[in-house]
Amino acid sequence: MTTAESFGFNTQHLRTDVLVVGGGTAGTMAGIKAKQANPDRDVLILEKANIRRSGAIAMGMDGVNTAVIPGNSTPEQYVREITIANDGIVNQKAVYETGRLGFAVIQELESWGVKFQKDPDGNYDLKQVHRVGKYVLPMPEGKDLKKILTRQVKRHGVQVTNRVMATRVIVQNGRAAGVVGFDVRSGDFVVIQAKAVILCTGACGRLGLPASGYLYGTYENPTNAGDGYAMAYHAGAELTNIECFQINPLIKDYNGPACAYVASPFGAYTANAEGHRFINCDYWSGQMMLEIYKELNSGNGPVHLKMYHLDDDTIAEIESILWANERPSRGRFHEGRGENYRTHGVEMNISEIGLCSGHSASGVWVNERAETTIPGLYAAGDMASVPHNYMIGAFVYGRIAGENAVDYLQSLDHLEPDPDFLAAEQARIYAPLTQPNGIPHTQVEYKLRRLVNDYLQPPKSPHKMAIGLEKFVAYTDTLSEMGARDPHELMRCNEVHFIRDCAEMAARASLYRKETRWGLYHYRLDYPDRNDAEWFCHVNLKKGDAGEMELFKRPVEPYIIDVDLKKETYDVAVR
Ligand SMILES: Cc1cc2nc3c(=O)[nH]c(=O)nc-3n(C[C@H](O)[C@H](O)[C@H](O)COP(=O)(O)OP(=O)(O)OC[C@H]3O[C@@H](n4cnc5c(N)ncnc54)[C@H](O)[C@@H]3O)c2cc1C
Repeated sequence: MTTAESFGFNTQHLRTDVLVVGGGTAGTMAGIKAKQANPDRDVLILEKANIRRSGAIAMGMDGVNTAVIPGNSTPEQYVREITIANDGIVNQKAVYETGRLGFAVIQELESWGVKFQKDPDGNYDLKQVHRVGKYVLPMPEGKDLKKILTRQVKRHGVQVTNRVMATRVIVQNGRAAGVVGFDVRSGDFVVIQAKAVILCTGACGRLGLPASGYLYGTYENPTNAGDGYAMAYHAGAELTNIECFQINPLIKDYNGPACAYVASPFGAYTANAEGHRFINCDYWSGQMMLEIYKELNSGNGPVHLKMYHLDDDTIAEIESILWANERPSRGRFHEGRGENYRTHGVEMNISEIGLCSGHSASGVWVNERAETTIPGLYAAGDMASVPHNYMIGAFVYGRIAGENAVDYLQSLDHLEPDPDFLAAEQARIYAPLTQPNGIPHTQVEYKLRRLVNDYLQPPKSPHKMAIGLEKFVAYTDTLSEMGARDPHELMRCNEVHFIRDCAEMAARASLYRKETRWGLYHYRLDYPDRNDAEWFCHVNLKKGDAGEMELFKRPVEPYIIDVDLKKETYDVAVR
């Protein structure tokens, strides 16, 4: 049997009350809130990178997409927006929490030193980017957001273990009891017992292959390979809306958004090759992506972010936001290509497909208490199912998960993990090291993600998806041929396992929902129309008792805010 010891690595045993997996936006807040809820509890954040600069906001953020600020909008109005944007498939109670608690989060972040844009009267300077309502709050000085959060994590006495990758949740007696993983530098096998586990591992950003062909040149933070989706699945938790892919406008050949939604309040907009508007709203949605897809395939492509009609001062202001924050390499990228916003549009592509609730809706099923369907297992942020949650939603659900986890574990003891489970997982993790000359992880990942593009990229065809599914299932054998020469390569190999799991889930869920919904996200060529009669429900999946993937419908909870979906749609086409 392959063990850590066979390669000269040790086994580390750790114990904590609350274990947060992933120290990004949601994870840092979950850790802080758990500690605030009860300072006597041990709280540990596990991070596979370094918490100081990890996750989607590693290099800051240029704005809040979902700021529900009193006097500007209400939680009720916000719930209506999201319900319409998500074609009705939402748990409104869960969405409501982002509207209800988001303002308190913004105020708390401000008290920690995060700066939000204010007008001359000192009011939050909100911008209208959505079709209705003002929710976008710029953060032109948001570059050090992650460093500020890390400082608060330490101030609150939350423990942090960097460079350890979780690979499986330990489930004992029907409840989450910790995680296993390994140190991506030393190679040590790590077993952490916990009374509650909060998964905050972000999106599945490496599902499809970007048009640039670069493995890590993804729209999403590339370290997030769907780890949490796969771990929750193997723990037996339900996942939802996995067929509702995330697809975004991406700068061509660059791993970042064009940011039309940042530049649009200044007068910029998405245009076709002739410089004409073809969408009337730059806020992302499946319908908007469908219009971009159509324009690209109409002969009017490529599309670009148009700023060259604006005056020099305005363009300079846009540059100061987009180049200092979030993607600070962006200015250098344009410079290297001899592109100037005064003379050139920013050419865009349709991004690779991914799984993400922050920008879309696919995630591990959670209720408004951030509870998954496994007792003691919580999820928050891009990997949990609250749609269109973005950064503030990740903070809000980090907060909810942290507080509820502390409440839940009050009288619980630690459970001893099953030794057979630990041995099997150890053998699975370290297998690539037994064949250092096996197929390199880059090749195995490249082929897998190219298959994802070939067979799952919308518009979705039933025959292609069926072929894809067959290939993703068979690919389990290919994974066993991967080789690794050190713990870093081992991490990459384990990420490929997660990507394969997500690809299979994405194919099965897409085949199950026999209608078109969410614009391009789930556009089925064989069922081109929406069919509320049969599909006004969530498509959920989980691992069955015999280890097979089970798919089933979960009813949409009764709405708490009335929305007439027949009258209100998110159509953004300029006709
Ligand atoms: C390019 C881009 C632009 C965006 N722009 C905006 C914007 O302008 N406004 C806005 O409101 N929102 C924006 N968002 C969305 C917002 O940033 C995300 O919704 C939010 O940050 C997600 O937080 P998270 O905690 O779920 O994930 P992340 O912050 O990505 O954190 C996940 C963490 O988990 C760690 N991790 C992953 N797997 C493991 C594992 N197996 N073991 C241990 N650790 C692991 C990762 O290293 C990472 O640190 C943007 C996102 C992107 C990608």
